[in-house]
Amino acid sequence: MTTTTKIMVLAIALTAHSSGAFSQVEIKIKTWPNTEMNANHTSYIPSDVKAGFLHTMQPNCLSEAERKLLMEEADRNFEMIKRNKPDQIIQRIAMPPAFIWPVQPKAGFNDYGYFTVQNLVDHNASFPNQLLDYNCGNRTYDWAGGNHAGTDIIYWPYPWRRMDEEVMEIRAAADGNIIIKKDGFFDRMCVNAGNPNWNGIVLQHSDGSRSIYMHFKNGGITNKGVGDAVAAGEYLGLAASSGSSNWPHLHFEVSSSTLTPMDPYQGNCNSMNPISLWQTQHPYNVPTVNRICSKYRTIDYYSCPNPEITFERDTFSIGDTLSLWLYVRDLVQNTTFQLELFNPSNQLANSWSFTVPWATWPTSYLSWYWMVDPWWVQGWWKFKATWEGNSYEHLFFMTGQPSGMIETDKPSFRLFPNPARESTMLSGRSLQKGDLIFISNSLGQISKTYAVPDDSNEMAISLEGLKSGYYTLSVKSSIGTIYKPLSIID
Ligand SMILES: [Zn+2]
Repeated sequence: MTTTTKIMVLAIALTAHSSGAFSQVEIKIKTWPNTEMNANHTSYIPSDVKAGFLHTMQPNCLSEAERKLLMEEADRNFEMIKRNKPDQIIQRIAMPPAFIWPVQPKAGFNDYGYFTVQNLVDHNASFPNQLLDYNCGNRTYDWAGGNHAGTDIIYWPYPWRRMDEEVMEIRAAADGNIIIKKDGFFDRMCVNAGNPNWNGIVLQHSDGSRSIYMHFKNGGITNKGVGDAVAAGEYLGLAASSGSSNWPHLHFEVSSSTLTPMDPYQGNCNSMNPISLWQTQHPYNVPTVNRICSKYRTIDYYSCPNPEITFERDTFSIGDTLSLWLYVRDLVQNTTFQLELFNPSNQLANSWSFTVPWATWPTSYLSWYWMVDPWWVQGWWKFKATWEGNSYEHLFFMTGQPSGMIETDKPSFRLFPNPARESTMLSGRSLQKGDLIFISNSLGQISKTYAVPDDSNEMAISLEGLKSGYYTLSVKSSIGTIYKPLSIID
């Protein structure tokens, strides 16, 4: 099959926050094959898959120079601990530590997953753009002045929302003593520009090796202080984006007793240490659906450091766009998803499959969308995805009514008529001069933009030049953005 893969770079509101000539994070979107733009996905026919992945570009979690300063401070602190708190020091032994996984979800978290392992240690000493992870892949990065020396465990999906919900708890990977504790710094950074003001912990273990935990949430750090002993599994803090970071995550880094870098993962291309430092080493790929959900738009929206606009909704009506999403960890090439839709009678209404044609992505999503028509009968529907031996389910409700009869989000604006032909009237709540109105198509592309000319309770919206179909009208004001489904008919 010859297919042109369409790659669009979604503007993630990077312009306001990027420093320097390159974007720090981007989500690339692929459609497969490239035919969905004009397709009309009514009834049971799903759209072609729409997929995206997180692409790390030239970040710099911890520079060599900063690591050296950090380790010198740790040395001074350890000497101080030996003098002042000798009873706290873990009995020295020659064995390296055996680490447990350094994050866990907070109590009560009940989604399928919340993180991916986006970046590993770079074993190719050259830089830039000379990448080699322990497994001989390139899931790592470097920059003009150094190599990534840690493991980045990042939130996925909705990093800023999950950070605010305090989902990712960081815990000691092994018994040790706190030899560095940093807190009080801003924790919503959007750039990896070498900012040394991170919150976090450095532990010294019984053999003299050290583990570094970076980018904590301000104020969420353990109450214990420098010199205190912690046990494996003990709470250290919360994942966030302090220091040189553009995405809430944990950077976990290990140094030997002689302060040479170590990679906790054992593998053919690990040039640093011959054995795994994990008690139980996770596989290189852990194919998991972290979240399965339904949305009323075909995009999601990132605007660092604000909580994401998810467009998630579980109630849909005739005329709405229904977009079903899988947020995926380790989207492994050539693996196959089995997708099924069950109607309110729990009968299989449609099924399809998707085989991943791309090189493996650690942090990605897949989605399919429909235009809801009367085929989607009233009641609770089930979307089920089966992949690599696991199943994931999501329920959503079909009203069976035309979409204009159901208010979405805040019931503050009304569109009449809807469906509309040449124009429609927006009314209900006071519009303010300068509020912005966007009409976007089912792919989320903005077709028309209006600025409200003066304070008013209603405004005629011209639909001239728009083809018949399903759109979203959004009103952006100082109190937020409100979305209304809009149908245009001939
Ligand atoms: Zn890192």
